[in-house]
Amino acid sequence: MRCPFCGNVDTQVKDSRPAEDHVAIRRRRFCPACGGRFTTYERVQLRDLVVIKTSGRREDFDRDKLERSIRIALQKRPVEPERMDQMISGIVRRLESLGETDIPSSTIGEIVMESLARIDTVAYVRFASVYKNFQAADDFDRFIDELRPGQKPEA
Ligand SMILES: [Zn+2]
Repeated sequence: MRCPFCGNVDTQVKDSRPAEDHVAIRRRRFCPACGGRFTTYERVQLRDLVVIKTSGRREDFDRDKLERSIRIALQKRPVEPERMDQMISGIVRRLESLGETDIPSSTIGEIVMESLARIDTVAYVRFASVYKNFQAADDFDRFIDELRPGQKPEA
């Protein structure tokens, strides 16, 4: 696993333990090159999901991007990290059980909004207001930029 700080490929696992009620394995990793520490999660992936954007472009589903957008929506909200992880796993399981491997980006946005609405109203409003401006969350990267407080481009 490549070090996210320095790019070194040769990182070490320091500790592995079950997480999220045994749905995931959490590994603490250490990079001997730069001393960086980071955590990875190993999960069952039932299907390889593909996101269909409104433009029709296809992109492999990226759990990390989903997680980043949710993390930003939940910034400074009183929600335990474990709860957030469970919510994200729940979203991914729902996506995987839709019965289709190709999923419109709008479906993902709707499911995220539903899930956020259940755990934190403020985060839901943050996410929903950006999402609705944005017409179908076409590009998660741009979406994340717009969600990030203080870096919102002038309209
Ligand atoms: Zn490193």
